[in-house]
Amino acid sequence: MADNQRSERFREGNRQFNCTSCGALLHRRFRYTKLVVCEQCRSILYLRRGAVDVLGNQAALADHPSLFQRYHRFAYRNLLLEPVGTLRYGYGRGFWEEWWCLDSDGEGHWISVDEGDFVMEQRQAIEAELPAADALEPGMKIDLMNASWTVTELGTAQLQGMEGELPDIVNPDRHFRYAHMERPGSKLVTLEYNDPSGRPDIYLGEWMDPFEIKAL
Ligand SMILES: [Zn+2]
Repeated sequence: MADNQRSERFREGNRQFNCTSCGALLHRRFRYTKLVVCEQCRSILYLRRGAVDVLGNQAALADHPSLFQRYHRFAYRNLLLEPVGTLRYGYGRGFWEEWWCLDSDGEGHWISVDEGDFVMEQRQAIEAELPAADALEPGMKIDLMNASWTVTELGTAQLQGMEGELPDIVNPDRHFRYAHMERPGSKLVTLEYNDPSGRPDIYLGEWMDPFEIKAL
């Protein structure tokens, strides 16, 4: 109960605005929200200082059974989390989803869901010399954040769609190369190369135990 009350502080009082494409009444529930996808016309709306710009349009995501529902809170160990938006990426063997979830302190967490695998990730604000995407190979060892990681998967992901509220501007045509790296234990790293020869974004993740995800 106390946690529920605390998370209310980070809401903006359910601020309402109209979709600039179709006029539908929409809600922005969190102060960090930058993108909202209109549920009526599927426009991707960029919110800034009172202005609403249309970034693009997208097809609706096909529904599929999901443990998470937008605005339905769940507990995970000592965290109370509320999913507010989703990105879906297609890759070689199917798709995965990234759920943007806020905890009761208003901190954001990305949870990546690939079939039964759940990983909680946070972007790392670090500068590191890393190989270009083309230079990576499965099994390669990489030193990063005082640990030795093994490259376990390489691929290309394509954004298939997004829903709800998101904290970053995401290009509707986004595609990128990625690498997963693991080390013994429950941690993993994902590298995302928006530019294959440039510096990747670095996410540090931890496998979640799905049996400890408790719907509220
Ligand atoms: Zn609309």
